[in-house]
Amino acid sequence: MARVIAIANQKGGVGKTTTAVNLAASLAAAGRPTLVIDLDPQGNAGSGLGRPRDAEGPTVYDALVGGVPLADCVVATEVPHLSLVPSTPDLTGAEIELVTVEHRELKLQEVLQPLEPRFAVILIDCSPSLGLLTINALAAARRVLVPLQCEYYALEGVSHLIRTVELVRENLNPELELEGVVLTMFDPRNNLSHQVAEEIRRHFGKKVLDPVIPRNVRLSEAPSHGRPALRYDPRSPGSQAYVKLAEALLKRWGKSAFRATG
Ligand code: ATP
Ligand code: MG
Repeated sequence: MARVIAIANQKGGVGKTTTAVNLAASLAAAGRPTLVIDLDPQGNAGSGLGRPRDAEGPTVYDALVGGVPLADCVVATEVPHLSLVPSTPDLTGAEIELVTVEHRELKLQEVLQPLEPRFAVILIDCSPSLGLLTINALAAARRVLVPLQCEYYALEGVSHLIRTVELVRENLNPELELEGVVLTMFDPRNNLSHQVAEEIRRHFGKKVLDPVIPRNVRLSEAPSHGRPALRYDPRSPGSQAYVKLAEALLKRWGKSAFRATG
């Protein structure tokens, strides 16, 4: 069964989508069938993986509120072994439309289950909120990965996020655990980056994943070309950091993250 990982932090712009897209591309490049679910109405994971904003076809919104099987929403990307469930701005409405639905927090879990045997890893890119969509992601996932930007206030709101994870574990999803914290946009020449990284390590200890992700312009340019950095500039420090992060996670997971056959 797939490792289902929610990439969450209600703070905006900390590198959730960059981590989802580039970690997924690195896992796929290592031969693991990987799915990215774009659970953000902004649709940045989809556009970062080359899906045109005006593309037709069912999206995660249709699966959550329209009864469309999630399998029908899966599209291939240009990266072998990497698939995407896109989102649209309609998804904003799902938060409201789901309010009257029974077990509304478990909707994604329900629609995701039939897809799990097809993938080694499923990454859910969350929006910058702790609303119903993110609760759905946490309820559907077994692990949560928290990107923290190496800037002032990195830890602001983190206790609220961790409390939300605990509440979801107690009430909806007893298996949910913190996979780890990814330090993003680390600038080795900047003292502040070092200080913030140190503070985060004091707070999270071994949960901080190695390597840290450096600030690298290639990572910010790649989405405008509709491709992960690994396809845009594979040698860039940014794409290499995500390759190493994928290797570290695969090593930790051992054989349970199966390879694609054929
Ligand atoms: P949101 O909360 O809006 O969904 P996010 O947490 O998904 O944002 P990203 O979109 O991944 O954050 O990143 C925010 C911005 O920072 C983007 O312009 C992205 O290209 C840039 N960025 C992310 N990581 C890096 C990095 N390591 N180096 C340089 N730029 C980065
Ligand atoms: Mg994002």
